[in-house]
Amino acid sequence: LADAVTVHLVGAGPGDPDFLTVRAHRLLSQADVVVHDRLVDPRVLELVPALAERIDVGKRPGWSGTQDSINGLLISLGSGGGSDRVIVRLKGGDPFVFGRGGEEAAALANAGVPYEVVPGLSSAIAGPASAGIPVTHRGVSASVTVVAGHRQGHDDTDWAALARVGGTIVVLMGVEHRGAIAQELLDGGLDPSTPVALIERATWESQRTLRATLGELGHVSVVAPAIIVIGEVADMALVGHSVSDLILATD
Ligand code: SAH
Repeated sequence: LADAVTVHLVGAGPGDPDFLTVRAHRLLSQADVVVHDRLVDPRVLELVPALAERIDVGKRPGWSGTQDSINGLLISLGSGGGSDRVIVRLKGGDPFVFGRGGEEAAALANAGVPYEVVPGLSSAIAGPASAGIPVTHRGVSASVTVVAGHRQGHDDTDWAALARVGGTIVVLMGVEHRGAIAQELLDGGLDPSTPVALIERATWESQRTLRATLGELGHVSVVAPAIIVIGEVADMALVGHSVSDLILATD
């Protein structure tokens, strides 16, 4: 396109603006337009200039927008002229980890709109770390699997295979179906005493960590967004200060 503008697909990290990349911070403070999801810490949006346009395309109940309409919005912003405009598509965590960033990049490429991907700190790794949980630990866990726990239409995840891998399992978008996920992993051979940690709103001011076992996971009261960590490392709490604020959370 003749006078296309670059669309920056930017990862916002898990929440706390201190965990933005320098590049994400710079783009946000220079932005003219920010198209963002619901899952962005309000403190990150405070970095956007007051006069910039903010467009919330967060998918929430009652909002009729589709991924196609978001793609269309990004294409029209990027083909709208004004080559000095800074257009940011802001996504929680890393744009390419369950963020549909790949679909948006492909749609922009197809439309001839230039784009740039700015990686972010994924909640899959940074979320557990913020609760003192290393996703791998020598002698404890030599692998980490990041898996989506929602069941949109069908669930093609081979949970029994994950149960056999033996390392750490990090489930994103898993709150709603945590009971079914636990059952599949138990059926796959994991022990009911396998430690589980649930980290709500990691690095947000309202962060909360809950501990349970796989046998208890279906009964834990937890509020999305949360990261579910399953495996021996989930017992760890390398927070470097008192762990008295950890909540034991089974009902
Ligand atoms: N691209 C994002 C993930 C998008 S999927 C990333 O890399 O982090 C959305 C899911 O991510 C949520 O349902 C939740 O499971 C998880 N998530 C993202 N940010 C989170 C946070 N700050 N605290 C807890 N869970 C988070």
